Amino acid sequence: MEQHRAVVVGAGIGGLTAAVALHLGGWQVTVLERSADLAPVGAGIGLAPNAQRALDVIGLGDRVRALAAWQGDGGMRAPGGRWLARTNAKAAAARFGGPLVLLHRATLVDILTSALPDGAVRTGAAATLVDPGDDHRPARVATSDGEIEAALVVGADGIRSATRHALFPGHPGPRYAGCTTWRVVVPAPERPFAPHETWGAGRLWGTQPLKDGRIYAYAMAAAPAGGRAPDDEKAELLRLFGDWHHPVPEILAAVDPAQVLRHDVHHLTDPLPAYHQGRVALLGDAAHAMMPSLGQGGNQAIEDAVVLAHHIGPAVDARLTGPAADFVPSRALAAYTADRLPRTTAIVRKAARTGAVTLLAARPAVALRATLVSAVSRFGPGLVLRGFDGIADWRPPVAPARSA
Ligand SMILES: Cc1cc2nc3c(=O)[nH]c(=O)nc-3n(C[C@H](O)[C@H](O)[C@H](O)COP(=O)(O)OP(=O)(O)OC[C@H]3O[C@@H](n4cnc5c(N)ncnc54)[C@H](O)[C@@H]3O)c2cc1C
Repeated sequence: MEQHRAVVVGAGIGGLTAAVALHLGGWQVTVLERSADLAPVGAGIGLAPNAQRALDVIGLGDRVRALAAWQGDGGMRAPGGRWLARTNAKAAAARFGGPLVLLHRATLVDILTSALPDGAVRTGAAATLVDPGDDHRPARVATSDGEIEAALVVGADGIRSATRHALFPGHPGPRYAGCTTWRVVVPAPERPFAPHETWGAGRLWGTQPLKDGRIYAYAMAAAPAGGRAPDDEKAELLRLFGDWHHPVPEILAAVDPAQVLRHDVHHLTDPLPAYHQGRVALLGDAAHAMMPSLGQGGNQAIEDAVVLAHHIGPAVDARLTGPAADFVPSRALAAYTADRLPRTTAIVRKAARTGAVTLLAARPAVALRATLVSAVSRFGPGLVLRGFDGIADWRPPVAPARSA
C-alpha cells in the first residue's frame, strides 16, 4: 500500500476542502469527480464565520472574508414588506466573530482548487468503493482506468452517495423534505434594497448581494416531489412571488427562465451509525444532508473536512521527515465520527424544524408566526441571529494556518 495516498470521491465543496487539508498535511491526494468539469450546481452559497474559521486552518479564510458584501441592515419581512425582525451586518459580525459571506459557488470552487497541485483533480472519473479496508489492509476504489489502493478514502459524493450505501446498505437514505427550491443570480435591481428573507404562507424568498454587484436570490415552497412548472420556472416564480415587496418583482423581471435552478429538497433524517468504516470517512451531504433552511450544508461539509484532516494527522512527521507512524485508521476515524456526528445530527434536526416553521401554510399559523417573530424581536435585534448560536460561533480544533 502507498502509505500516504488518499483518494477523495467527489469534487464538491466538501471533497475539495478535504483534499486541500490533506494535501497540506503531506498526503498524496487524488480527487475523483464523475462530472466532466468542476462547474458546480447551484448559484450562490452563504458561508458563515464557522466555515470561514475552518478555512483559516487551510489558509483560505481571508480570501472568503474579502468577498463579504452585506453592509447595513437586513432581516425578516412579510410578503407585503413589513419588517418582522431586523438586524444588521455589524451585529452579525460582532455576535459570531466575522461577516456572513455570500459568494458564487464557482468562486468558492476556484479558491479551493487553486490550493491543490496540478493534476490532483481528475474529472470524468466516476468512482466506486470496492473495499473499505481496515487497519491492516488498504482500501480499494475502482474507476474506469482500474483500481486504486489507498491508505485513506474520503466519501464526499453528495446526497446520493454510493460510498455511504456501500458502507451502510441498511440505511434508508435521504427522504423528501416536502419542498422545492429555486435559485438565480441576476444583476442588482436599480432601486436599493436591504438583504432580506421573507416568509409567506408555505413559501419564502431571500435576496442577498454578491461582491461583484450581482444579487443571489433563492426561494422555497411546499410542493409534491418531482414537480415542474407547466410552462417554465420563471412563470412559476411569478405566480408564487410576483406580488411580493420590492425588490422581488424587479428581480423576477430580470430573470432569464433558462437560468432558474429548481431542486427538490431531500435530507438524511435518520442519522448514520458512524461517519466511517475501515479506511473510509464520509463527509458533507454524503454523511448528513440537511434542509437549506439554516444555509449550513456546505458550511458543515467544510467543518467536516478540516476536522477529518486534524484527526488523520500529517502524512509526514515534520520532525522526523519520515512517515508518520501513528495513523491508525480505526482510531483516527472513530475520533472523527465522535467529533462530527453529534454536532451535525443536531444541525440536521434544527434545519428540519426551522424548515417546518418556514413552510407553515395555514393562515392562522402564518399570522401567529409573524406576530411572535415581531414581538420577540422587539426585545432586541438578536432574534434573526439567535438561531445561529452554537452553529456560526464554532471554532476548529486546530490553529489557523498563515493566510494563503
Ligand atoms: C437551495 C439550496 C441552497 C443552499 N444554500 C446553502 C448555503 O447558503 N450555505 C451552505 O452552506 N449550504 C447550502 N446548501 C447546501 C449545500 O449546497 C450542500 O450541503 C453542499 O453543496 C454539499 O457539498 P458536498 O461536497 O458534500 O456535496 P456535493 O456538492 O453534492 O458534491 C458531491 C460531488 O460528488 C460527485 N460524485 C457523486 N458520485 C460520484 C462518484 N461515484 N464518483 C465521483 N464523483 C461523484 C458529484 O458529481 C459532486 O460533484 C444549499 C442547498 C440547497 C439545495
